[in-house]
Amino acid sequence: MSMKILLGSGGVGTDERKAMYQSLMSENFSDCDKVAFVPYASDDHDGYTERMSGFSGLEGDFVGIHEYEDPVSALGEVDGIYVGGGNTWLLVRELHERGLVGPIREAVMSRGIPYAGVSAGANVACPTMQTTNDMPITMVPSYETLGLVPFQINPHYYPGGIWFREEEDGGFLKHFGETRSRRVSEFHRIRDEPVIGLFEGSYLRQNGDFFELLGNKAALMRKGEETVTVSPGTLLSGDLTTA
Ligand code: ASP
Repeated sequence: MSMKILLGSGGVGTDERKAMYQSLMSENFSDCDKVAFVPYASDDHDGYTERMSGFSGLEGDFVGIHEYEDPVSALGEVDGIYVGGGNTWLLVRELHERGLVGPIREAVMSRGIPYAGVSAGANVACPTMQTTNDMPITMVPSYETLGLVPFQINPHYYPGGIWFREEEDGGFLKHFGETRSRRVSEFHRIRDEPVIGLFEGSYLRQNGDFFELLGNKAALMRKGEETVTVSPGTLLSGDLTTA
């Protein structure tokens, strides 16, 4: 079954990035009359769905999955699934508690329903939520997520350390918190999946057996190996080796 998957880092704050997001979204859902939006990474499901209905620029029906009494049954009525960003812990809790993990996986992997996920929505396309940046504001029944792709994503990735300014016109100060690749190397003490750090404004689009990097750079982090940075246009296989 060929799958249509679009996974974005987020950070779509410029006009140019917004235009790219909208064009990739409309291409991903081009054959869809009705897309189910999954707003559970936010706690304002109605407001978030309404905002994203406009922001996504999609033309067909755009319906919040929370509007259904039985959200699993909604999956039988729609022909696209879009999972929005926000807090990954909230999102994962709701996906498990509403019994949606298996049914979304089945819809995408067995029925070929196009999937898009941005930020938290990209995190949950991976085998586990354990490479999120979010604070654990709630308990989750399990860290297991949809497993639509065999690798892990760290969204909003940036390389190196952090420098910040306390005042707009002040000097830069160094922040001594861990870098992302340090955090990912901690993940690799426990699990083996390769991790792709998506810089803001970047996407992975599934193309047959490969994933095409679009928009911005990405960092490939494999257990025990040096981080490798790749440019937009790179084709990656499921184990995150370059094709
Ligand atoms: N909070 C992020 C988002 O925008 C997810 C993350 O950084 O892990 O959805």
